[in-house]
Order: sequence, then structure tokens, then C-alpha cells
Amino acid sequence: MRIVSVDPIYLKMPSITTAADGTQDTLLVRIRTDEGIEGWGECDASPLVSLSVYCCPMSHGNIINIRESLIGERIDGPEDVRRLRARVLRQGLDIQQIHHAYSGADIAAWDVVGKKLARPVYQLIGGAKQYPKLPYASVLFGNSPQETIQVARGLKERGFGAMKFGWGPLGSKDAAFDEALVRSAREGIGNEAELMIDAGVCWGNDVEKVLERAKTFAKYRVTWLEEPLHPDAIGRYGELARRRPAVPIAAGENCGTARTAEDYLENGGLSFIQIDAGRIGGITPARITCEQAQKRGVTYVNHTFKSRLSLAAALHVFADAEKFKYLEYPAAGSRLAFDLVKGLERDAKGMVSLPEKPGLGVEVNIDVVREFMVPVRVELSGLTVFESERL
Ligand SMILES: [Mg+2]
Repeated sequence: MRIVSVDPIYLKMPSITTAADGTQDTLLVRIRTDEGIEGWGECDASPLVSLSVYCCPMSHGNIINIRESLIGERIDGPEDVRRLRARVLRQGLDIQQIHHAYSGADIAAWDVVGKKLARPVYQLIGGAKQYPKLPYASVLFGNSPQETIQVARGLKERGFGAMKFGWGPLGSKDAAFDEALVRSAREGIGNEAELMIDAGVCWGNDVEKVLERAKTFAKYRVTWLEEPLHPDAIGRYGELARRRPAVPIAAGENCGTARTAEDYLENGGLSFIQIDAGRIGGITPARITCEQAQKRGVTYVNHTFKSRLSLAAALHVFADAEKFKYLEYPAAGSRLAFDLVKGLERDAKGMVSLPEKPGLGVEVNIDVVREFMVPVRVELSGLTVFESERL
């Protein structure tokens, strides 16, 4: 079959705030074929920056947009998904954001092929069997230790076995305040559950400070300390590892190419590498990183703070890796993200598995797409370069 349309679709909440909440808007990508099959993907990026990579006019032979590279192409099996990715990246060689922006299309292409072959994506990328994951509820710290305890108690009531607190005011005051936030999180969730802390890059390049904080946080039995340093500070991450921090370090969610993830694996000394399939370029490069992590003894974890469409895509990448047990599981966010796709609920044991269904195995609610969609039209001198499809 052939690809007949590639539609980047911009959705947003009526108002957007500065909170580190990535569910306030999104970019969906829908691919349709001449056999009537449609696949969906989602990017975790600035939606309109990525949308432009789908429709920017050609500058020369190395700046050709994603839609032009895909429409009319054959898509029948996994090899086509890989071939199409290579074609898009080659034709968009000089578009710096192309890997990142292609994430949604790569995910949608896997969904298409899974539906065509009537198999779940995790099997098409080499998995024989899937293993249930331990979802960790992922939320932001409250604005104070008191607020954090309330958030933590609320999550505990929802029965999560692992919880991660991040961003918010961590790192904005002194050591005592940071400790109070972490202590409140532990107090609120109780002694049983696993606790992860996401520093949200708040200590920049300051390895000394991270070592100090890690020592303090270790008292509260922290599974990992995430992104204590700037995403580009891969050498500093390596230095941090050589100095043996008191808690394991996690990072990698910002990787916009598979090569950046490889750099983290080679030089960052991480215990956990966190990959967002909606940022790194889709399921294809995320799977490459997952396999490299396996070889190096680093634990692969998804990064997901979007809808359950993104969560499904993220889970297919490592569903078959029994050793990689943690699943980032957004537990807060906008109605846009929660209503767009349903499913992937916890089972009686509190674990999460993929439905054994073709493709990604989840359905996009088109009414929710219509409700939050913001139509886009790009014009040059009165000529329309791009116009959103009517849904
Ligand atoms: Mg994070």
C-alpha cells in the first residue's frame, strides 16, 4: 500500500501556563494509506516548530520536508518503516530538527504497519513476549513541602507502588528547603513505595552540589535522582558518576537523536537512561537506544509526559525487556492529554501491559481531537503552503 496523507495536527488547551506540564498542547501526526489504514503518533516538542518540518518549502536537495518525503511512498512492513525514516532523514539532512520532528511520523508509521499485519508493534520490532511494567506516577513537586505532602498522600491513596516528584521549586532556595521537599514526598507516600526525584536540570553544571544533595536524599531511599545537571553536560554526568554519588543517576529525556543517547551511554556513566520516543525520533531510534542500553548494563526507562498515545508508543519500545521494569506513567496533566486516548490502566497487581492488539493498540478519540485542534494555515505571498485537514 501507499501513503496518501501525512497530517500534523496541532492541539492546545485554551490557556497555556509556565508550569513544567507538557500536556498543555501537543502535535499529533496521522498517516493514511490507500487501503484506508490510518496510524497515529505524537511528538513531545514545541508543536508549531515541529509542524514546520512537515511543511517548510524546499530550500535545496537536503531541505525537503517530511510530507514530501513520505507521500506516495510504499509502506507494507517493518523494513519500509526503517527505509522511510532513512529517506526522510537523508532528504532533510540540513533541517536540524528533523529527527525530533519525525518522532510522530515514525510512531504513526509503526501503527500503520502493525494494523496492516495485524500484530502489536512490540512484536514487529523484535519482541517475542511482553512483560508487565511497574508504573511510577509522575508528578510535579508542590510549591512547598506542605503542598508536596498533600500531593504525595493523594497518589498513595491511588495505590501506586512507585512515585516520582520533580521540577517545581526544587533547587530554588537552599539545601534545607530541598531536603524538606524530598522528606515531605517520602512522608506522604509512606515507607513501602519507591521514590524517584526529578531535579529538572536545576543544578546546571554544579557537580559538587549534586553530590551533596544526593547524600542528603539518600536518607529518604531514593531509587534515582533524575536530571540534576543540564542535558548538554554529558561530560559532567561522567564526572559525577566517577565520584560515586550516593543515589543512582538518571537522565536522557532530552535526547533528540539516537546519537545523543549513545553519547550519554558512552560518557555519562548513568544508571538509568530515559528516552522519550516522541523526542528522539520515534520508536525506531528509541529501540536502538534500548538495545544499546541492554548491552551496556544501563536500565532503559521511558520518558513520557503526554497522552496515552505517547505512553503506548513508549511502552512498545521496551515491552519485551524483562529487566527494564519501570514505566513512567503520567498521573497528572490536562484533560486534553487524559481524554485523547484511553487505556493502559493498571491491572489488579498495579502493573501495566500493552493490549495484544494490532499496531499501538490504542484508539485516538477523534471528538477530543476536534475539540482541542487549532487549525493552522501557512501562507507565502498569498499562496497556501500548508493548511490543516478538516476533521
Ligand atoms: Mg524528567
